[in-house]
Amino acid sequence: MAAITTTRSQELIELEDRYGAHNYHPLPVVLARGEGVYVWDVDGKRYYDFLSAYSAVNQGHCHPKIVGALVEQAQKLTLTSRAFYNDSLGEYEQFMSEYFGYDKVLPMNTGAEAVETAIKLTRKWAYERKGIAEKEAKIIVCEHNFHGRTTTIVSFSSDEGSKKNFGPYTPGFVTIPYNDLIALENALKDPTIAGFLIEPIQGEAGVDVPSDGYLSKAAALCKAANVLFMADEVQTGIARTGRLLACDHEDVRPDIVILGKAISGGVYPVSAVLADDDIMLVIKPGQHGSTFGGNPLAAKVAMAALQVVKDENLAENAQCLGEILRKELRALNSPLIKLVRGKGLLNAIVLNTTDKDLGWNFCLRLRDNGLLAKPTHGDKIRFAPPLVMTEQQLRECIAIIAKTVREFEK
Ligand code: PMP
Repeated sequence: MAAITTTRSQELIELEDRYGAHNYHPLPVVLARGEGVYVWDVDGKRYYDFLSAYSAVNQGHCHPKIVGALVEQAQKLTLTSRAFYNDSLGEYEQFMSEYFGYDKVLPMNTGAEAVETAIKLTRKWAYERKGIAEKEAKIIVCEHNFHGRTTTIVSFSSDEGSKKNFGPYTPGFVTIPYNDLIALENALKDPTIAGFLIEPIQGEAGVDVPSDGYLSKAAALCKAANVLFMADEVQTGIARTGRLLACDHEDVRPDIVILGKAISGGVYPVSAVLADDDIMLVIKPGQHGSTFGGNPLAAKVAMAALQVVKDENLAENAQCLGEILRKELRALNSPLIKLVRGKGLLNAIVLNTTDKDLGWNFCLRLRDNGLLAKPTHGDKIRFAPPLVMTEQQLRECIAIIAKTVREFEK
C-alpha cells in the first residue's frame, strides 16, 4: 500500500498523538484547506471530500456567503449569553420557525445537546401534559442508533465501544429493532411511553435505510398512542437525503425535530430543536439552556447557511446526483461490493468481505487516488459528498471509486 504521508504530515500526526486524547482514529491525511467539494492536505494535494464532516458541510467547504456572515457578525457582537436579549436571535427564531414550519425553536450548539434537549422536553411533556406518573416516563429507541456521546445518550446505545465502562446508565429507555413496526406497536402498549426517538436513516450504523412507509406508519402509531415522534435529523437533515428533512420523503411531520451539523454549513457549532407551543412551552425560564445557545454569531451563520440550501437548490441536486451515484456504483458489478444503499447524497457501500481491515485499506487507497471517505463498522463505507457537487465532479469521483475497486479486485 503506497504511503503518502510526508515528513510534514507525519509530524502533525505525531503532534496530535502526543498531546491529544486518543478518542479518534483518523485516516492518515492532514488537511489544511477546503473549498466547495474539495479539501487540500498540507502538501497541497487535492481530494474530493466524500464525508463532508459527517454531513455538516452540505453547503461545501468555506462557502463564501456563510463565511461572509460569520466575519461580518464576528466584528459586531459574538456572545451575550441569554442573560440579555440580542438583536439577532429573534430574527433567527422567526427564520427557523418559517423555514421548517414549527411554532418554536430551542437553540443549542452540538447534535448531542439537541438530542438531550429533545429527551428532556419529551419527559417534561409526559409528566405535565400526558399525565405519566413522576419518574416513570420512558422513551423508545432503536437498535444500532447513534445520537451522540453524552452519558444519557450512550446509556441507550447498542454499540459496545460507545457504552462499555461508562455506566451507571440513565434508565428510562426501551430498545426495539429498527425498521420493525410490530416491535414498535408492542412497545407502544406500555402507557408510560412518552416518546419514540428515531433517525430517519441510521447514518452511523452505515446508512441503514428503512423500508418505504416505515416512517409514516411509525408516526401514525405514535400519534394513536399519544407518544411524541422525535426525529433526529442531525445527519439526515438539511437536504442531505434529497429533501429538506428525510421525514419529508414520507410526508411525516415529527412532533419534535432535532437538527445540527449542516444548519451552520460546518462553519460553527449550531444545533436546534423544533416543536410546537404545546410541547415547547413546558420548559420554563431557568429549566434548560446553554451559554452559547442562540448567540448572535450562530444565528447569522445558520440563517446564511440555510439560505444557501434554498438558493442553490441543494435538495434537488442531492436527489439527482444520488440516483446517478447509486446507479453507477451498482453498474460496477464488482464482487467486492455486496450492497449499495442510500438516499440523496447519503450513501454507503457494504463490502463483501470477512476481512475487517478491508474497509480501512480501501479508504487508504481511495485517499491515494484523490478521494476521502471513512469506513464505519469495518465493512461499510459512507459516500456523502458536499451537496454543491456538479454532475461532472460526481462522475470524476465515480471514476476514482471504480479505479480503486478494480485495483482491489486484482
Ligand atoms: N445524532 C445523529 C443522527 C448523528 O449522526 C450525530 C453525529 N454523528 C449526532 C446526533 C451527534 O452530533 P454531535 O457530534 O454534533 O454531538
